[in-house]
Amino acid sequence: MRAIGVDLGGSHVMAAVVEDGAIKSRAENDIVDRTFDVVAKMVAATIREVLGGKKDGLAIGVGSPGNVDLATGVIRYSPNFGWHDAPLGAKLREHLDMPVFVANDARCATLGEHTYGGGRGTANFVLLTLGTGIGGGIVAEGTLLIGNSAGAGEIGHHQVRATDGFYCNCGKIGCFEAQASGTGLLRHALAVAPSFPRSELLADKPQKLGSKAIRRAAESGDGHALAAWNRYIDDLARGLANIIAFVNPEVIALGGGVSSAGDFMLRAVRPKVEELTTMVPRGQTRIVAAELGNDAGAIGAAVMADRGSLTAAARS
Ligand SMILES: [Zn+2]
Repeated sequence: MRAIGVDLGGSHVMAAVVEDGAIKSRAENDIVDRTFDVVAKMVAATIREVLGGKKDGLAIGVGSPGNVDLATGVIRYSPNFGWHDAPLGAKLREHLDMPVFVANDARCATLGEHTYGGGRGTANFVLLTLGTGIGGGIVAEGTLLIGNSAGAGEIGHHQVRATDGFYCNCGKIGCFEAQASGTGLLRHALAVAPSFPRSELLADKPQKLGSKAIRRAAESGDGHALAAWNRYIDDLARGLANIIAFVNPEVIALGGGVSSAGDFMLRAVRPKVEELTTMVPRGQTRIVAAELGNDAGAIGAAVMADRGSLTAAARS
């Protein structure tokens, strides 16, 4: 396969020429002004940059935050940009005169990871990206789940601590995203802080403390960080066990910043997930690290463009 994959984020856009799941060249730009017309122009310019004047009959796939009408490429709602009914697909076709497909960025990442990463060869697969929030997607019987209004896979917003959890950006309490994203780890560290009055973890500019620093401190045995980490792993395991009950996948791949903990995370979370797996046979879901990192979204968007839709089967 050969297509253009675009990963559009709230502050950054990356366009890549993708060949057989590998990025051959890329162009990137920062987004400062989030006005729709300005962003659409910026995306088109970034695509032109990576094409270098040639179109080569390629199609373009764009992964964008928000809920997307897959048939038209209209972004119905994107909290990251503050857009409602933004016709991104049409605007890019107008700017570039090329075929354009638009879908949610997390769904694109799931398609990429399923086709070329940690989900290769599986029929039932879930990707979870543990970053500032939790993004994800579900592949069932070999096909990406879209849902009735393209909302299937919003796994971050099922509640794992509905009564004693943190407030979620979506307005609910104890969502998986609030508890088990990178931001969740930071919140756990703040929540257990009163039990560690002599801890130095938060002493130095706590506003600059990230999930990576807490995880590293936990790995080196810091008591405060470990207490936060253990609570974090408990909540991550709750969410994973729920997902296993919903989907019964063969593989769940964990990506995003927190998952750079690798084995340290996987070793801790696997037995807890087993404990919480009740109605589904235990030991049937492999929990692994995602393989494509930050490129999963652009690679998946290119797969969508090459196939002509998010759910089409691979061309043989
Ligand atoms: Zn939520």
